[in-house]
Amino acid sequence: MSDAPDRLARDRGHADVLDKNHRPSGAPRIMIVEDETSLAVLLAYNLEAEGFEVERVERGDEAELRLEESTPDLVILDWMLPGVSGLEICRRVRAREATKTLPVIMLTARGEEGERVRGLSVGADDYVVKPFSTPELMARVHALLRRARPERVAMRLHAGDIALDRETRRVRRGDRELHLGPTEFRFLEFLMERPGRVFSRGQLLDAVWGNLSEIDERTVDVHVGRLRKALSRAREKDPIRTVRGSGYSFDETFAGG
Ligand code: CA
Repeated sequence: MSDAPDRLARDRGHADVLDKNHRPSGAPRIMIVEDETSLAVLLAYNLEAEGFEVERVERGDEAELRLEESTPDLVILDWMLPGVSGLEICRRVRAREATKTLPVIMLTARGEEGERVRGLSVGADDYVVKPFSTPELMARVHALLRRARPERVAMRLHAGDIALDRETRRVRRGDRELHLGPTEFRFLEFLMERPGRVFSRGQLLDAVWGNLSEIDERTVDVHVGRLRKALSRAREKDPIRTVRGSGYSFDETFAGG
């Protein structure tokens, strides 16, 4: 494991600015705001090994800018930071509508432990005192994500009268079982995990087939057509929304009827 953080350190320049809006893998994205580079690199390495996408930021003011651009799934936030303090960032994160419920784990050095109450009072979800063990922090990350985003780990996805079971690979609408091909199943699973988000045909190809760009983008339309046919009978509402000129999305208002 000794050479991996070095590799990450070398890659840092661009690893920190990965395109945040293109996440065909659907991996939860974690922002690490920590000015202690060696610790941040170690955390990033461990989180990436567990399949998370990681964005590292060393300054508080930079973290604020990034959070305004896009919202990660969880933030690991050091207390003492150059620019703006972790405490202040947390306060502002909670005040903004877009990030109000963003899961935040605060990190603090021993001796700042007395500040724990303050950290929690500004809305941090969890609090870890340095030095901590990596497995301990990983466990906290998983626990918090499970709490905050149960759909990330849920074996079943529900939207309105549609239920998708990842384990048995079965999909039901109301009381009838739907017969989907494997591609249609993956399509539906991908879209149901991200209701309301619009995906281009290219993004859907990446997500469902992997990076086999040989496949024509019109193939997506064919499969969406099959998926719709399987999902909806005559008077049933179609949960898949076609966004002209853009692509497809799972209608976020579908669950509401
Ligand atoms: Ca610090």
